[in-house]
Amino acid sequence: MKPFDYTVPRSVDEAVRAASAPNTRFIAGGTNLIDLMKIEVETPAHLVDLNPLAESDSTLRSVGDAPGGGLRVGALTPMSDVAWDPRVKERYPVLSQALLLGASGQLRNMASMGGNLLQRTRCPYFRDTAMPCNKREPGSGCSAIGGFNRSHAILGTSQHCIATHPSDLAVALVALDATIRVRTPGPAGSAADRTIAVADLHVLPGTHPERETVLRPGEMITAIEVPALSFARHSLYLKVRDRASYAFALASAAVAVNVANGTIRDARVALGGIGTKPWRSRSAERALIGKPAVAASFRAAANAALQGAVTHKDNAFKVELAKRTLVRALTEVVA
Ligand code: SF4
Repeated sequence: MKPFDYTVPRSVDEAVRAASAPNTRFIAGGTNLIDLMKIEVETPAHLVDLNPLAESDSTLRSVGDAPGGGLRVGALTPMSDVAWDPRVKERYPVLSQALLLGASGQLRNMASMGGNLLQRTRCPYFRDTAMPCNKREPGSGCSAIGGFNRSHAILGTSQHCIATHPSDLAVALVALDATIRVRTPGPAGSAADRTIAVADLHVLPGTHPERETVLRPGEMITAIEVPALSFARHSLYLKVRDRASYAFALASAAVAVNVANGTIRDARVALGGIGTKPWRSRSAERALIGKPAVAASFRAAANAALQGAVTHKDNAFKVELAKRTLVRALTEVVA
């Protein structure tokens, strides 16, 4: 691990000012960052430790109701606190399930909600400093495109990167139209808040896969807000992976469906494990709304969701796997 400076800020505004310096990272749970620092994929010169703020500012570590009947979660809240919260389990089961399937118990107790959204890809070449990787070292090439790419993305890829986004939580939040509150450092030590839709937080790799989010230097996620959605009670997260725990998704689906008299009145669909970012599928939603809640409608939605998929040598199986994952999720949620 490379040496680094370490700062403990006394306030959020002090934190964002400190994090504005070049090559600086926030650290919260550290479950991803410390791993990457040990193998020198991440080599920050400066760490800003957010954990003491979670003790002094309860808004950063809490789960509560938001105005209008939604949910507000402080960004430093551990995943486990949210996963087991009775309000979340009852009103947003898709969120609880995504968190429970997203990490082991030990990791859920350490990892923060905000950090989960910013975790880095598990592309093995990204973690192997002996191999070219445009995301780790811009312009060096992509080892996955001509290499072993079984786990890689089929939606949102570019000629420069085909890595999947690893967060299950982000997929559920995208389906729920969630937003994040962000503290932004300004001139002369000032700071302000802004709101970003989780669907807009992550960017496609394009020609710059090293850029993963729209966050600006120093910006800190302070909260996640999930709007009220009555039919979110009828939601579900289904994750398909190589083993039953401690593995990332080969394909996943976050769905919420409102059915009345056998007809789908409204639907939310997002997919994970197959996209370079958490993948909201509005085409699948359009294919569902107004149709009978039967297998043929679900299959039509799955076909719509996977239109435009681009496969590589080892991951063509993901097209059918993702379709079946979505069909099964929809079948289970309306049962
Ligand atoms: Fe790097 Fe992306 Fe290629 Fe993986 S897929 S080697 S992360 S550029």
